[in-house]
Amino acid sequence: MTYDHQNIFAKILRSELPYSTIFEDNEVLAFLDIAPQAPIHVLVIPKGEYKSFDDFTANASIEVVGRFFSRVSKIARDLDLAESGYRIIANTGDDGCQEVPHFHIHICGGKKLGRMLPG
Ligand code: AMP
Repeated sequence: MTYDHQNIFAKILRSELPYSTIFEDNEVLAFLDIAPQAPIHVLVIPKGEYKSFDDFTANASIEVVGRFFSRVSKIARDLDLAESGYRIIANTGDDGCQEVPHFHIHICGGKKLGRMLPG
């Protein structure tokens, strides 16, 4: 499957849709999730065209992957989540129920999040 340039996050990266920026640099954009599942729910995406966590880790350089995850932890720290704790999630593919085919990390926090998976 090739990268879908019409996916929602590709449109956000082209500023074709509104979004609330939390952090941005030349490689990474972080913005508020439109349907938050926790008091703090931020999405972090690479600016490169990667469909999923699998695609990103298989095809981006180790430096890009390392810088990306370093940004994720910095963003969580800057959101004052490091001490209270938080959860990062990378829904991947069909069974992972990934809806948007541009790799993203969810950062969720601001309350006790409960069990890792429902049921
Ligand atoms: P996933 O199921 O991991 O692919 O998550 C996709 C996430 O994108 C969901 O949590 C949605 O609420 C979120 N989302 C969808 N459209 C937008 C948008 N326009 N702006 C911000 N977040 C969005």
